[in-house]
Amino acid sequence: MKQLILKAGREKSLQRHHPWIFSGAVVRVQGDPGPGDSVAVRGAGGEFLAWAVYSPASQIRARVWSWDEKQPVDADLLRARLRAALAARARLLNADDSDAMRLVHGESDGLPGVIADRYGEVVVLQLLSAGAERWRAQIADAVRELSGCACVYERSDADVRGLEGLPVRCGALHGALPAAGVHMREHGLGYLVDVAAGHKTGFYLDQRDNRKRVGELARGREVLNCFCYTGGFTLNALAGGARSVLSVDSSAEALAQARANLQRNDLDVARAQWQDADVFKHLRVLRDQGRSFDLIVLDPPKFAPTAAFAEKAARGYKDINLLALKLLRPDGLLASFSCSGGVSADLFQKILAGAALDAGVDASIVGRYTAGADHPVLLSFPEGDYLKGLLLRRS
Ligand code: SAH
Repeated sequence: MKQLILKAGREKSLQRHHPWIFSGAVVRVQGDPGPGDSVAVRGAGGEFLAWAVYSPASQIRARVWSWDEKQPVDADLLRARLRAALAARARLLNADDSDAMRLVHGESDGLPGVIADRYGEVVVLQLLSAGAERWRAQIADAVRELSGCACVYERSDADVRGLEGLPVRCGALHGALPAAGVHMREHGLGYLVDVAAGHKTGFYLDQRDNRKRVGELARGREVLNCFCYTGGFTLNALAGGARSVLSVDSSAEALAQARANLQRNDLDVARAQWQDADVFKHLRVLRDQGRSFDLIVLDPPKFAPTAAFAEKAARGYKDINLLALKLLRPDGLLASFSCSGGVSADLFQKILAGAALDAGVDASIVGRYTAGADHPVLLSFPEGDYLKGLLLRRS
């Protein structure tokens, strides 16, 4: 039998239903499992703890798929988990006049390393673990059938695949991408999503609820949207009645898509300005020009993938938040986000407190943001809780 035996005392995190088994916790591997094979995990005393999938190349040596000894990892388990994940989203889909959302969120849906994002009639899969890789065909078939979407497209090109010893794999698994591009709707706004070459699976679905909230705050305000990507916050701010929106990003492709997305909607293009620039530098330019704004959005890329990068990340967050707070008019709002798993909500709040202090401004927290309900966070897996945002009001 293929099984992992843990060192004495290392069963504790599994007893709390944390799904990762690190290499240092394993004392013995029996039955010569290969990557993607299912293994029984046992404590030092031989007691059954879980069924996991083995990944010899990774520091996360195995990921738990089942806590039930009678339910090993098989096609039935996979289907049941996918069905439950999609059913949980069914009532969210089409709410808010949206047809895009995350259908499967990895560990939090009991499917370690499996991501499925729906954009209109296309589902984009990201398979990030040895287990997800092993069950690729079954996952693609079940997602196609359960979602009713004709096209299932794979975007398994995230860096973490390398840590699992897996090569990049991209391309259609079912059907073909529509020739006219992939269209999606979110809060009644239309977007074209580049699922083949865009970031992640093409769009930052985790900010869905927050784009709406920021849009609702925008009426009559002069808005600065930093790290705008393909224009999500920009379009919501304009739809919400912003007087003007200046959007900044350092990617020319993202800006071109953002402009095209604006054209696609019935919004006043004259109220939008675009800037191809490094936000760290451009905030200084705006400061030197004496500019000021009523609402600023900071949604930077991940500065700290793990806690080891937290200090460097903290300097980056502090810098942009300090500059943004200085550009805010009195009574202005700053919606500031961090998607760094290595920076906790507590640390992020402390960084913003330090930024306000050094900027010489008084500010209060008037809102707290996380990812939406389609990105659930298992209580036993706090690593899933990566996105945090604070809405600050400058006094
Ligand atoms: N707010 C967006 C997602 C932002 S993703 C949304 O709702 O869809 C982060 C963006 O930051 C990417 O578009 C990337 O091109 C951009 N970026 C990364 N580093 C940057 C920098 N130093 N200056 C400006 N833009 C940057």
